[in-house]
Amino acid sequence: MGDDATRAADGRLIDAVERIGDAGRAMLREAAKREGLSLTQAQLLLRVTTPSAGPQSTGSFARWLEVSAPTVSDAASALVRKGLLEAVPGVTGSGRSSWVPTTAGREAAERLHTWRDPLTAALAACAPEERAVALRVLLEAVASLHRTGRITVARTCLTCRFFQLDRPGDASGDWCGLLAAPLAPADLRVDCPEHQPAAAHR
Ligand code: SF4
Repeated sequence: MGDDATRAADGRLIDAVERIGDAGRAMLREAAKREGLSLTQAQLLLRVTTPSAGPQSTGSFARWLEVSAPTVSDAASALVRKGLLEAVPGVTGSGRSSWVPTTAGREAAERLHTWRDPLTAALAACAPEERAVALRVLLEAVASLHRTGRITVARTCLTCRFFQLDRPGDASGDWCGLLAAPLAPADLRVDCPEHQPAAAHR
């Protein structure tokens, strides 16, 4: 494929990602509205109730959501008032307070999660191998944007110091040095609790 054709194909791919992002945001906003929440409040509640996220400070929530710390504080205060979060002092080990979900907050988060169902159904039209290739392509893009500072937090395999392109011995394929286990294409993680940032760029 020539340079012009490659650029045109890249443009179409970026357009498609943008369309999916816009649609996903609209679907999450609709789900948030049904719960009486703003988009940011819904995103924060979903993040607080994500098991792999663990206890986090205002700043780490802000970096993950790509918003300011005061925006997170405002959203958290609203969720506390609505009985969906509880403030917990010193939960992050930093001495600063964070939040944990109430039972009502967990139930609301489960309902919010259904915003992804149409996307899940759409992906089912592609073969698992095609989806694995798409995951790798998107994670390469996330890693590149993270290296250039356009994505603040990337807890992905491709940005992790434990990620190896080749397995120990002669076998080829991705490998996690921490788990000492192969990483199949579909197993590459997007939000790994064990992730540690790679010191050098791959
Ligand atoms: S620790 Fe997690 S993010 Fe890092 S390579 Fe292993 S599975 Fe991937």
